[in-house]
Amino acid sequence: MEGTFAGFWRPKPVTAIGSTGERRINTMGIIAKPDLDTDWKDSSNCLGVDPDLFFPERGASTREAKEVCRGCIVREDCLEYALLNGEKFGIWGGMSERERRRIRRQRALERQAAARTAEAV
Ligand code: SF4
Repeated sequence: MEGTFAGFWRPKPVTAIGSTGERRINTMGIIAKPDLDTDWKDSSNCLGVDPDLFFPERGASTREAKEVCRGCIVREDCLEYALLNGEKFGIWGGMSERERRRIRRQRALERQAAARTAEAV
């Protein structure tokens, strides 16, 4: 698909083979898992916005990018995409990597607790 999405998408994605042999789409150096739905990107609030805004220098403000995300109707999809795809850099779904790391940690703890509960039953 042609066009850009927050600078994360190249006009002509190329396919690559992941470490487990699966086909992946490489966009802007980011390897997307093939089973993740990305149709939501067409409705993103950041279409046409300077991609650099979403990849601020270390220590720079993320306020402007988060402001764009605040009004985005696909914010949750974007955030889930980043969480599932393990995006390490940039603002996705209105959250920084540190904020996403916190969510991933919380979810891991919840999965562990659920597993322990299931074992105890
Ligand atoms: S949440 Fe932010 S980065 Fe994600 S699609 Fe919307 S505007 Fe773009």
